[in-house]
Amino acid sequence: MLGLMQDWPLLCSKIIDHAATVHGGRNIVSRSVEGPIHRTTYAEVRTRARQVAKRLEKHGIRLGDRVATLAWNTWRHLEVWYGITGLGAVCHTVNPRLFPDQIAWIMNHAESRILFVDLTFLPLVEKLKPSLPLVEQVVVLTDAAHLPENSVGALPYESWIAEVDSDFAWPTFDENTAAGLCYTSGTTGDPKGVVYSHRSQVLHGLLAVMPDTLNLSSSATVLPVVPMFHANCWGIAHAAPISGARIVFPGPKMDGASIHELLQDEKVTHTAAVPTVWLMLLQHLDKTGGSLDFLKRVVIGGSAAPRSMTQAFRDRFGIEVMHAWGMTETSPLGTVCSLKPEVADITGDEWLDLKEKQGFTPFMVEIEVTDDENRPRPHDGTTFGRLKVRGPAISRGYFKIGDVVDEDGWFDTGDVATIDPLGYMQITDRSKDVIKSGGEWISSIDLENIAVGHPDVAEAAVIGVRHPKWDERPLLVIVAKEGRSPTRESLLKFFEGKIARWWMPDDVVLVDEIPHTATGKIKKLTLREQFKDYRLPTE
Ligand code: ADP
Repeated sequence: MLGLMQDWPLLCSKIIDHAATVHGGRNIVSRSVEGPIHRTTYAEVRTRARQVAKRLEKHGIRLGDRVATLAWNTWRHLEVWYGITGLGAVCHTVNPRLFPDQIAWIMNHAESRILFVDLTFLPLVEKLKPSLPLVEQVVVLTDAAHLPENSVGALPYESWIAEVDSDFAWPTFDENTAAGLCYTSGTTGDPKGVVYSHRSQVLHGLLAVMPDTLNLSSSATVLPVVPMFHANCWGIAHAAPISGARIVFPGPKMDGASIHELLQDEKVTHTAAVPTVWLMLLQHLDKTGGSLDFLKRVVIGGSAAPRSMTQAFRDRFGIEVMHAWGMTETSPLGTVCSLKPEVADITGDEWLDLKEKQGFTPFMVEIEVTDDENRPRPHDGTTFGRLKVRGPAISRGYFKIGDVVDEDGWFDTGDVATIDPLGYMQITDRSKDVIKSGGEWISSIDLENIAVGHPDVAEAAVIGVRHPKWDERPLLVIVAKEGRSPTRESLLKFFEGKIARWWMPDDVVLVDEIPHTATGKIKKLTLREQFKDYRLPTE
């Protein structure tokens, strides 16, 4: 016979086993929900994850059952994550920032049987419980001493797992078994459940470790500010134990001062979060004059990393920002803007221009840009098209909905992007937001980025408004900075020389507030609804 390689299924339990065996003593540091800093190790996390699995099994949880978490990033959440998946159940991370009725909808849709919840969210769960008929047990991630009286029969985690010992052997099953379930935020209709398999989680964890991605190793200390409930924790909950990196969890505190304290006290080398978090950190550092002495790599994604942010990290702290793109459906790491040798020497504005791009794909991710008829568009860095993606950690479809990929396996991201000859991708819009004027596309994001550079503008959104001749034309909606009232003329003049003339917004509207989603993104759908009967002066 051929004497092929061994059959070693890619299971999440293999990850925590590796970390516990090879990097067992490595620290997992957490700011606890109760307050103090907590320290544990990979070995201890595995022991307690086994207890979680054994206790879940005792409850009657079986292969494929969904078990939910509504929790911050802490060691207990990590134990639960590996306990659930190790048993073969599905770890359903719920985003507590969603609206309560959305949370109930998601919990019922997923049919999650047990809910692990942080103390912070117990009042929310008490309110929601009547709409959660399928939840058999609420377990609060704390000890008996900290658990308040409650109306939902919630049990304290520490006593609950103490009912069993850790003598539990991870079961073996097919690597294509579901391991994780994470719902998209539902900015366009009901939330959709993305199902990660054990195989996809292990492969994505590996691609996240790679040098041009997160660049983790056993000598790194990584602080995932990105929540474990947001798009699979950007792979860090797998990548860190795969590489043996030390983890520092922020718990419930993500303000500038708290993050700075952890970055410094725990000598964090790698961190990742959405731009809002870094804005808070930079503002804090502005006020206090604090330094960042150990940090080497800041990963920014979820929405575009502002140029000023990338520049501030580099010029003031000598830290390289890694701009990254991805979505819940892509596990999520799709591209990361690392410098290839071809561009290693660029400086100044050219460097910032490049860093504005979302970067190139790691191995196991393929991307393409196409027109509406699915024909590939050139990779020239300027022609934009619909961004398609495929790979072993890219979703084929959604839970209870089924496959959505085309016959060649491409998943349509709903983003619009360019790809340059070196393979660097740049998001220019979402396909629903791009403005289609006379058959050509105008990037609403480009126009918004320019508008927020105007000294009187606090926030800007650009949407397409119906136009009898051009089909759609751009409308600029702005919120002015306090005490300022910029004129239409000064705002439009600000675009001159920065864009092609036919990209110029047809009109400007000042509003008090722009609607936002639970993940802090502009709610274009609501805005378009609001202005659906708007008559442009150019009609
Ligand atoms: P949610 O809408 O719940 O935040 P995701 O986190 O999955 O869901 O969001 C994915 C979307 O976020 C992408 O399709 C893209 O539009 C946007 N996005 C992610 N990263 C970036 C980035 N670096 N720059 C611009 N847009 C981004």
